[in-house]
Amino acid sequence: MKRAIYPGSFDPVTLGHIDVIKRASSLFDWLIIGVLNNRAKSPLFSVEERVKMLKEVTKDIPNVEVKSFGGLTVDFARECGANALVRGLRAITDFEYELQIAQLNRVIDPNIDTVFLTTNLKYAYLSSSSVKEVAAYGGDISHFVTPYVENEVHKKLKR
Ligand code: ADP
Repeated sequence: MKRAIYPGSFDPVTLGHIDVIKRASSLFDWLIIGVLNNRAKSPLFSVEERVKMLKEVTKDIPNVEVKSFGGLTVDFARECGANALVRGLRAITDFEYELQIAQLNRVIDPNIDTVFLTTNLKYAYLSSSSVKEVAAYGGDISHFVTPYVENEVHKKLKR
């Protein structure tokens, strides 16, 4: 059984992430989305809230599971029994950072490979931070996230 993890912050999950999840779930038998519990990043949503949103938006994909993790990504992959790690690439700016992390991870554990999926051009411009910024200024984020996530973002920003 080919298992992969898709780690990230998902603060919040966007249509760009969902596109990567759908494509990765058709490449692997089992895909575990790993929501990074990284306090240093001071996310808008707690890790529990991010996991809940991901579970909701992936509920119709049968071979996808959502978990949270802290610590090293390769350790999380090993715990999940996965030997592949999926990341999305949007632009050359992503590439430099991602290449470095992928090489570092391979040194830490040569059994785990990083698989890059290039963005769907429809979502090449899309990031969680731009969603938060547009929403904070009262802009329409319905083209960037699902209606459920849109509602969660508005609820959060009202508080
Ligand atoms: P991180 O903090 O780990 O970068 P993100 O939630 O921002 O977490 O992104 C998780 C992964 O999804 C990264 O590999 C990122 O490049 C990818 N990604 C984010 N947005 C998009 C998008 N619009 N299209 C394709 N991949 C994306």
